[in-house]
Amino acid sequence: MNISFLNFAPMHSAIRAEMQAAFESVYDSNWFIMGKHLEAFETAYAQYNGTRHAIGVSNGLDALVLGLKALGVGEGDEVIVPAHTFIASVLAVSHVGANPIFAEPDPKTYNLDPEAVEQVITPRTKAIMPVHLYGQACEMDRIMQVARRHDLLVIEDNAQAHGSHFKGQATGTFGDVAGISFYPGKNLGALGDGGMVVTNRDDTAEQVKTLRNYGSKMKYLNELNGYNMRLDELQAAFLQVKLKYLPEWTLARCQIAQWYTKHLQDIPNLILPYCHYDAGHVYHLYVVRTNRRDLLQKHLKSLGIETLIHYPIPPHLQPIYKSLKLAGSFSIAENLAETCLSLPLWVGMDEETVVHVSSAIKNFFENKN
Ligand SMILES: *Cc1c(COP(=O)(O)O)cnc(C)c1O
Repeated sequence: MNISFLNFAPMHSAIRAEMQAAFESVYDSNWFIMGKHLEAFETAYAQYNGTRHAIGVSNGLDALVLGLKALGVGEGDEVIVPAHTFIASVLAVSHVGANPIFAEPDPKTYNLDPEAVEQVITPRTKAIMPVHLYGQACEMDRIMQVARRHDLLVIEDNAQAHGSHFKGQATGTFGDVAGISFYPGKNLGALGDGGMVVTNRDDTAEQVKTLRNYGSKMKYLNELNGYNMRLDELQAAFLQVKLKYLPEWTLARCQIAQWYTKHLQDIPNLILPYCHYDAGHVYHLYVVRTNRRDLLQKHLKSLGIETLIHYPIPPHLQPIYKSLKLAGSFSIAENLAETCLSLPLWVGMDEETVVHVSSAIKNFFENKN
């Protein structure tokens, strides 16, 4: 049995007719950018997330760039980012001319540690960017307390945690602004690139709308050095269909995670995902950890089971940030990069498949490969 890391087929076959109708609706409208499909999806997403504004943009990285820009973060500012995250969180900070300042993750949740944040605050710190990694909400009460105490802006990277929550409050609603990704593999994925900026701030929403469209509020009148970073009608129409199913798909992900935990829990030396008691987890990824990660991955590959590593090289060790000379400075993040392994997880995966993967993992540890 070959098991791929991702498999869109079960999810997409169930909504084929609705997606075709969405395509036809856009096709027949003869209107492809900034039209009624985008507006409808923005309204629906704002309602889903519980924010005043949702602004469709080109992708998740651009959503973070626009959010930072709209808040006035730029040259000379420092933005605190987790040392364990996808590179886009950090690139967004660099793109607006600000300096990313790394802080260690919590060794249990792998999310930004509020205490580590407080330790790297300087007079130049302008903002904090918590990333709700793997689908688990950060400890947002403590992070917001730190932000208030030091008068800092908060930009949430919610690319992996659509529908997650902390103490019952949805991710994406804590900070000044949040960036969301609709990359196909995300919990809510387009059939291409897409993203969203959500905010409760009217001024920020206005800035983002202007910046995403050539810096123009009125056609051919340009007030800002803007971009072309819009979400197109076709992707908006597809996303509108998929958004309806997101709560159901999120439950499916949690069920799969529960199966993995049930079938993997007795393996010594294998660390399973830890969920903070106040945090929601929407299992964008099911990540396990072991010191023998590379051998385990090889073993699974030989059995036709595909796994991925999120992420093999932490941002501060990437060539683009090498000049910061931070090697060895973030031992928790560096250890995570060496021990993490993401198991196959997709909507439609059944318990038998989870048992198959789990048995292969058990087998690896029992045979002391
Ligand atoms: C996917 C992702 C992004 C970037 O989103 P894109 O749509 O791929 O540009 C940013 N941050 C995190 C944590 C992500 O997982």
